[in-house]
Amino acid sequence: MNANPTLADARRLSDAAASLIERALERARGVTESGKRIDDHQVLVERVAYAATQARAAAELCDAVEESRGAGIDGATCAAAVAELARSLIARLEPALDDLGLGDGELDRAFPAELRALLRAAGHESVLRAIGRHCAQTRGRNDWPLDELHDQVRSAVREFGEKEVAPEAERIHRSDALVPESFIRGMAELGYFGLAIPEQYGGSGMGNLAMILTTEELSRASLAAAGSLITRPEILTKALVQGGTDEQKAHWLPKIAAGEIMVGISVTEPDIGSDVAGVKCRAERRGADWLINGPKAWCTFAGRADVLAVLTRTDPDPASGAKGLSLFIAPKDRFDGHAFEMVQPGGGRLVGKADATPGYRGMHSFTLNFENYLVPGANLVGGEGGIGRGFYLQMAGFAAGRLQTGGRACGIAQAALEKTAEYVVDRIQFAIPLSEFQLTQYTLGRMTAMLASSRAITYAAARAMDGDERAAAPLAAQAKLLACDMAVELTQMGQLMHGGWGYAEEYPISRYVVDAQVLPIFEGVKPILELKVVGRSLLAD
Ligand SMILES: Cc1cc2nc3c(=O)[nH]c(=O)nc-3n(C[C@H](O)[C@H](O)[C@H](O)COP(=O)(O)OP(=O)(O)OC[C@H]3O[C@@H](n4cnc5c(N)ncnc54)[C@H](O)[C@@H]3O)c2cc1C
Repeated sequence: MNANPTLADARRLSDAAASLIERALERARGVTESGKRIDDHQVLVERVAYAATQARAAAELCDAVEESRGAGIDGATCAAAVAELARSLIARLEPALDDLGLGDGELDRAFPAELRALLRAAGHESVLRAIGRHCAQTRGRNDWPLDELHDQVRSAVREFGEKEVAPEAERIHRSDALVPESFIRGMAELGYFGLAIPEQYGGSGMGNLAMILTTEELSRASLAAAGSLITRPEILTKALVQGGTDEQKAHWLPKIAAGEIMVGISVTEPDIGSDVAGVKCRAERRGADWLINGPKAWCTFAGRADVLAVLTRTDPDPASGAKGLSLFIAPKDRFDGHAFEMVQPGGGRLVGKADATPGYRGMHSFTLNFENYLVPGANLVGGEGGIGRGFYLQMAGFAAGRLQTGGRACGIAQAALEKTAEYVVDRIQFAIPLSEFQLTQYTLGRMTAMLASSRAITYAAARAMDGDERAAAPLAAQAKLLACDMAVELTQMGQLMHGGWGYAEEYPISRYVVDAQVLPIFEGVKPILELKVVGRSLLAD
C-alpha cells in the first residue's frame, strides 16, 4: 500500500476517470441522439451527467494542486479526494454499462488492476485518517492557496463575517428575523455588491472569483443572514449585461454595485417551477407602460427588496412557450415583516406573504400576487427588443445564480467542517477526545476531501465565467450540482459527529444542516440541472 499518495497518483486516477467518462458520453450521445431524447433515458443521463461532473471536479482539483505547488492542499488530500470521486463515479456508471453498450471490459480498460490498486491505496483509510488528524489539529481551517489579491479579499471578508455576521446568525435563525440593515450597509461600504460588475458601471470589476470568495466567507458566517445577499443582484446584473439597453445598464448597474437597491427574483409560480417556459403571470400594455397580473411563489427577499425582476408572459398564447416571456424590473417599497401589501397611486396592488421554512431564515421567501401592478415601459429589460427574450435573459442570470450557489455551498460546508473539528477535539468520551478515534479521523478526512473537490470545481467555474460566460454556464451548473450535494452530506456528517448536541439549536451545526438542505432545490432543482443543463450540454454534438 502506498501510504503517502501524491499528485502524480491523483492525476493518473483523474485521467483514467476522464477516459471512462469520455467513452460513456460518446455512447450516451448515441443512445439519446445527441441529447434530443434525454427524456426517454432520464436515469441513464442522470448517471452519466453526474459521473462526468465528478470527473471534472477531479481534474480541476489536480490542476489547482499543481498550480499551487503543494501550498495549502497536499498531494495526499488531492489523491484521496480524486479516489473518492473515481470510486463513486465507477459505482454510478456500473449499473448502466449494458444500456450504454459498454461491458465490464470498459471498466477494466480504464481502470486496469494496477490502477484499481492505486485507487485503493489513494483512498485508503490510513490516508484519510491522516488528513482527518491534520484537520483536527488545524480545526479545519481553510487555507486554500490564492494569489495575493484574492487572499486579501478572502481575509477582509472573513473578518467582516466573523465580527459582524456570525454573532447575529443564531438570533436571526431562531427568531426568523430579517437580515439586518447594518449587514447590507457594511457590505455596500466594502464594495461587495460590485465585485463582478464592470468598472464602467460603478463596480470594481474584480471578477467572479473575488465574488465567489466573498460569498463563500459570508456563507461561512451565515448562509441566510449574509451569504445569500449577493446572489439576487448578481442574477439581475447578468441579465442586464447580457440583454439590457445601454440606458438600463447605466441606470441600474451602478445602483446595484453600490448596494443602493436590493433585488428579488420572481420566476417561480405556485403551479410553475422547473418548467420555466410555462410561466403564466401576465404583462399587458397600458399605454407606454405595462400592467402585471398573476401569482408568483418563492420570491426570496421580496419584502425588503427595492426591485423585483419579474418573468412574465407578454404573448398571451400559451403555445408561445419560452418565446412568449419578457423580463421586467418592477420597483416596489421596502417592507421588513413577514407579510406586506403595496398599493400604487393608480390602484395596482402587490401582496406578499413569507412561507415559513425550517432553514434559510433571514432571507424570507414570499408568495406574491400582482394585481394590475404598473411597471414603467422603460423597465422592460432590453426595451422593445426585449419582448420575447425574457426566458433567455433569465437563464443568463441563472448561470450566475448557480455559480453563486456553488460558493454558498462551500462556505456552509467550511463552517460545518470547522465546528466539527473543534467539537471532536474538545469532546471527551471513553476518557479520550473523539478526535483520537480512528473512525472520527476517517470521517473528518472524508469531509476535507469532499470539500476540496467542490471548491476546486467552483473556483474553476468562477474563473471560466470571467471569460466566455455563455460557454462557462454548464461548468457553473456542474459546480452547483456537486457542491450542493456535498454541503448536504458534509453538514449531516458533522451533525452526527456532534452526537445529540448536533440536534440542539444552540449548536450551529443544527442550523447548517437545515440551511444546506435548500441548496440542491433552488437555482435549478437537482434533477433538472442534471438532465436539462449538464446532461444537455454534455450530450450535444
Ligand atoms: C427557500 C427557497 C427559495 C427560493 N427562492 C426563489 C426565488 O428567489 N425566486 C424564484 O423564482 N424561485 C425561488 N425558489 C423556487 C425554486 O427555484 C423552485 O422550488 C425550483 O425551481 C423547483 O420548482 P418547484 O418547487 O415548482 O418543483 P417542481 O418543478 O414541481 O419539481 C418537483 C420535483 O420534480 C422533479 N421534476 C420536475 N420536472 C421534471 C422532469 N421533467 N423530469 C424529471 N424530474 C422532474 C424536480 O426535479 C423536482 O425534484 C425558491 C425555493 C425555495 C425552497
